[in-house]
Amino acid sequence: MTHADTPAVQGGPELAQERRLVTEIPGPRSRELAARKDAAVTRAVGTMLPVYTVAAGGGVVVDVDGNSLIDLGSGIAVTTVGNANPCVSAAVAEQAAAFTHTCFMITPYDGYVRVAEELARLTPGQHEKRSALFNSGAEAVENAVKIARAHTKRQAVVAFDHAYHGRTNLTMALTAKNMPYKHGFGPFAAEVYRAPMSYPFRDAGVDGPAAARRAIDVIEKQVGATNLAAVVIEPIQGEGGFVEPAPGFLPALLDWCRANDVVFIADEVQTGFARTGDMFACDHEGVVPDLIVTAKGIAGGLPLAAVTGRAEIMDAPHVGGLGGTYGGNPIACAAALAVIETIETDGLVDRARAIGKTMLDRLTALQADDPRVGDVRGRGAMVAVELVQAGTTEPDAALTARIAAAAHAQGLVVLTCGTWGNVLRFLPPLTIPDHLLAEAFDLLAQIIKES
Ligand SMILES: *Cc1c(COP(=O)(O)O)cnc(C)c1O
Repeated sequence: MTHADTPAVQGGPELAQERRLVTEIPGPRSRELAARKDAAVTRAVGTMLPVYTVAAGGGVVVDVDGNSLIDLGSGIAVTTVGNANPCVSAAVAEQAAAFTHTCFMITPYDGYVRVAEELARLTPGQHEKRSALFNSGAEAVENAVKIARAHTKRQAVVAFDHAYHGRTNLTMALTAKNMPYKHGFGPFAAEVYRAPMSYPFRDAGVDGPAAARRAIDVIEKQVGATNLAAVVIEPIQGEGGFVEPAPGFLPALLDWCRANDVVFIADEVQTGFARTGDMFACDHEGVVPDLIVTAKGIAGGLPLAAVTGRAEIMDAPHVGGLGGTYGGNPIACAAALAVIETIETDGLVDRARAIGKTMLDRLTALQADDPRVGDVRGRGAMVAVELVQAGTTEPDAALTARIAAAAHAQGLVVLTCGTWGNVLRFLPPLTIPDHLLAEAFDLLAQIIKES
């Protein structure tokens, strides 16, 4: 029960930026910890790559056995500014020394207000905005739905095929995929409906506006605009497979929402904060959502999430109608302010574009001589390949699992995703040095060839 069990190692960008394997993966100390995990932690909480971390930063994760792995996951798009980023760590330490919690609803503090001001400045649109802060992406999505219902006095909510919005009861209902997110966990929240997504790889010949008309037709026929409080959509889907809708899909959907007084909620939990080579993925097509939900990359790993949007919508719930004990915790707010400052002063939006270009170039080259690489897609440092039976659109989850396992064994932290489990996704921290990115994609090319 002491901290002495885990050696104190300095993380951050000072860590040697190298891939270094000194044991098999996972090594003996990690396997010992995994055995303790099995005896103490429910099996329901899985671990994708059970090397136990002692430090991380720049573009690497270092484990208890002394292995140094190349990080292409950022803890699922969270440590965008780099793990243990010195600005973030310093802001956290300073705030922790001042006070750790008061509850913003009891005696408030400036950090929360400053995060809300920054969100108003950075999120799409010049309109008057308000924010509310929460602890997780799922909690924020739930609150966005509450706000939309209070504003419209309607109940129905539409989400899309392949959507992922979280694991709480309402967000499970919004999430599309049964296994592992929903299986056996019903009944789910009522008044949630699903519309077809624009999925260019599986949608040959359906352009963005046509895909939007297809979705709108389902909504009008199966839900009815006058019953609909909100449409919730990820501008690029995350867990669902990095599905980037065809150009024109999001703008057409937004136009329809405006015309029908339906609240357009952009779930930018995964795409937000420089990840896609814009501050927000909605910026790419100039889409201005009514409400935008942020989390993951917002606070460098501290638990923070937000709903930001039009003042008249955000102010619709009654006084005291929103909140929570920890929402907008002062340490998480201090981290978020440091993250935002780092993104801007270090030019990380541009860095995301540069990383994206490298990854897309490498993966497109692979695709040219491997017909199992069905699709290469994504923007900025959020890029994926969809693997299929050669020359078809038939998903190949087994191949994807083999590639991921081989990548893990060779010290690459690579994540999979997709409705069919056949997508490899790449979400490196924006602090990854070029030589590590190059090494990772050299290795991947070889692994894919041999798989
Ligand atoms: C991760 C994610 C969520 C849920 O966030 P949590 O913090 O895990 O609750 C919601 N929406 C999207 C798009 C996500 O990627």
